[in-house]
Parts: sequence; C-alpha cells; structure tokens
Amino acid sequence: MKYYSTNGNAPIADLQKAVVKGLAEDRGLYMPEEIYTLPKSFINDMPSMKFQDIAYNVAQNFFGDDVDGDALQDIVYDTLSFDCPVVKVTENIYALELFHGPTLAFKDVGARFMARLLGYFLRRSGSLGQGSSADLGGSVCGCATATNSTVNVLVATSGDTGSAVANGFLGVEGIHVYVLYPKGKVSPIQECQFTTLGKNITAIEVDGVFDDCQALVKSAFMDEELNKHMRLTSANSINVARFLPQAFYYFNAYARMKSLTSDIVMCVPSGNFGNICSALFGHEMGLPIKRFIAANNANDVFFNYLQTGKYEPKASVQTLANAMDVGDPSNFARILNLYSKNNALTPEATHHRITNLISGATYSDEQIKETMRQCYSETGYVLDPHGACGFRALQEGLREGEVGVFCETAHPAKFKEKVDDILGIDIEIPARLRAFMEGKKQSVELSKDFADFKAYLMNQ
Ligand SMILES: *Cc1c(COP(=O)(O)O)cnc(C)c1O
Repeated sequence: MKYYSTNGNAPIADLQKAVVKGLAEDRGLYMPEEIYTLPKSFINDMPSMKFQDIAYNVAQNFFGDDVDGDALQDIVYDTLSFDCPVVKVTENIYALELFHGPTLAFKDVGARFMARLLGYFLRRSGSLGQGSSADLGGSVCGCATATNSTVNVLVATSGDTGSAVANGFLGVEGIHVYVLYPKGKVSPIQECQFTTLGKNITAIEVDGVFDDCQALVKSAFMDEELNKHMRLTSANSINVARFLPQAFYYFNAYARMKSLTSDIVMCVPSGNFGNICSALFGHEMGLPIKRFIAANNANDVFFNYLQTGKYEPKASVQTLANAMDVGDPSNFARILNLYSKNNALTPEATHHRITNLISGATYSDEQIKETMRQCYSETGYVLDPHGACGFRALQEGLREGEVGVFCETAHPAKFKEKVDDILGIDIEIPARLRAFMEGKKQSVELSKDFADFKAYLMNQ
C-alpha cells in the first residue's frame, strides 16, 4: 500500500516509511491510497468469529500488502491480549469497554500494535544486533541516519499517552522509549504507569509544563547532531500504525451486536478524532454502522464545523474529560481528506457528505457530572467523564428503532478522585492499576532547556 500526505506536498511513502516517520515531510498526515472493501461474506460471518480473528482479517485488508501474513497474525494476536466487550447499560444503549488493556484506556490497542509493527520492521530490515544502518527512514528533519541500531521513541505526554506508549513498547527488542512529562503536573496514578517500568523505558521529568516537553521533542527531531548520534522516531497518535488498528474493536462490537438490530449508531467521545477516524475507515471498508456521533466536551470545534461548514480551530479549554481537551484536532485533516476524496469534491459537497453520516454533541462539565450521576443512580453503571459525553449524546440523539453503542474510552478508576467526588462513592482500583502504584518510581530530572536534554541524549 502506498500512503500520500493530506497536504499533498510530500513524496508517496510505503507503510514502513509512514510508520517510522509518523508525519509526512510537508507536515501532513499519511492516508492510504486505497481502502479495500471487505467481502460481504466476512461481514456476515463475523458473529461466529473471535475478536482476534476478526481483527486479523481487518488488519490483512490494511497491512496485508506490506506485512507477511504469519507475522501480521502474531502482531494482531499479541496486541489483543485483552477483550473489548460490549456491555448493556440501558434498554437501547451499550458501552464498548475499551479499558481492559494494560493502562486501562483505548490507546493501548494502537500503541501495542505500533510497537510490534515497528519491531517487525526492525527485524526485517536486519538492523537488530548488527549495528547496520538499514533504511528505516530518518527522523522528521531527514538528517543522516545514525549508525547505532536502536530506535529511540520520543514521546511528550500530559498523562495518558505516555503510559499507553510506554507499556505498548515495554520489552520490545531494538526500541528504547523516552517519555517526557511535566514535573508535578500529571496525576500520581498516571505517573506511576510510565515511571515504574524500567527495562527499555526511561521517564524524563521536565521542570516545566506539557508544552515545554513537546518543544523539547520537536527540537530533538530537528537537531542534526543528535540525529547522527541516535535514531529518533515518534509514536504520535496520528501515526497510521496507531490509529488504524482501532478499527478492530468496531468490527468486533458490530459482530457482538448484530443479532439485536441492524440500526447501530456508534458514538465516540472525541478529542484529536483519531478514534472516530478509525471507525470511519472501518465504515469505508464495509462495516455496516448506520451513523456516527462525535461526542465532545466544551471543546466544540468539530461540533461547530458540522453546524456551519467552517473549521475554526481555537485554544483548548480545560474540562473534566481532559483527554478530550483539544482545540485543533489533528485527525480532522484526515476526515476532510477522506470525504472530499482527496480534495476532488468542493467544501460544500464534503460537508454534506460528513453531516449525512456524522452528527455532533458538546457538553459542559456540569452536564458531564449530571450524566454520570443520573446513569449511576438509574443503572448502577459508573461512567468516566469521557464516556459520559458519549452516553449522553446517545440518550439525546437516538431515534426510534436505533441501538446505540458508545466507547467507554478509559476505566473510571483512572480518574478516581473526580469520579469518587462526583458520585459519592469509593471506586475500586483494578489490580493491574494497583500493581503500577506499588512499583518504584524511576525518573531522570531535567530542566526545560534543550541543551540539557540534548546533552543527556548524547550520553546515551
Ligand atoms: C485520548 C482519549 C480520548 C480522545 O480520543 P481521540 O482519538 O483523541 O479522539 C478520549 N478519551 C480518553 C480517555 C482518551 O485517553
């Protein structure tokens, strides 16, 4: 499969290059040149298949040209070491629980898949253990490739991404991960999920804010000397290997729901719009979801686009559902590109196609709290603040005869203080989350100066 850039100004890439580079040279997002439709027979057979086999078929459809079948099967099976069950909440609303992975959030799926795929490329290009400078592409700056064979993933995090990426890459041979996070600005539960791992994961505690961490990572990719010294790559959520695999659980959810109805509405609590984008790719592949709802918190840029046809990014505002605090969702470019058929359609025609398939909703913190309380008292189901946006959007938006499925994107215990406070309960922390909290914190403390960060990396 060939991948082009949404900005239309970068060379076509193969899968390996798209995965290693993440972002195209023109800063656009990679898009597959074709999305193959899955056979009807497969769609019909899905209810009798298990999750991993459904996922493997979907993966074949996307990655089959570029990854050897047995290897791809191993990657998929190894990624999906946990289930993504659909759970009934009310008569016509179901939760697609995406929090049964290692860090209790949906980002585990994409991060685990990407780590394994990158490991596969490293092995295939023979750069493991031989110190050869196989052609794995370079970092964003396109500088000379370093001769040391280890690939170093740099990731800046305000909390959840760092834990999913660190745990996804944990123990993957040939890859070292540096997680940069703002000192004192992530919750203790989040912090322990990437500072207690050891092995090939290094946590770097930056004396600054999230933007400083992000700036350090960007400067590192641009620094020629550093890129000669070590191979750098990112595990950003716009990476095709991180966002496409999320389609797996939408197919599985459909398979589990099919006997109930043919009118399934899929509702995705959205921030950067990567998760819903993978569902839309699934739809393009023939997944018979009737329509989609993008549920937002007070950050309503997409919602406004649906109303007006104008996309006007703005600064994000802080909310209870903080993983969705995004004022300029990066995957919006992918959605536009998909429905404009790579800019072949006019903005009006594109908007029309999008609003025919996707509707939106936006909720204040007050509404999120109210929804969590109401759902808990009426059904006993504990929503997290992100899932609450999805649940409410279905409550308000479902039409006669439709059944709604919303993504529960994270386990409520990840936000224990907020959830306990809102619901007046003492939510139990799952054992695998407690295990992180008992681990010993290991981190490297650095200032927010790039010179310090560079000196540290030059010594590795
Ligand atoms: C990342 C995240 C989201 C938003 O997902 P996008 O793919 O960025 O739209 C929603 N909920 C939780 C818990 C998340 O961690």
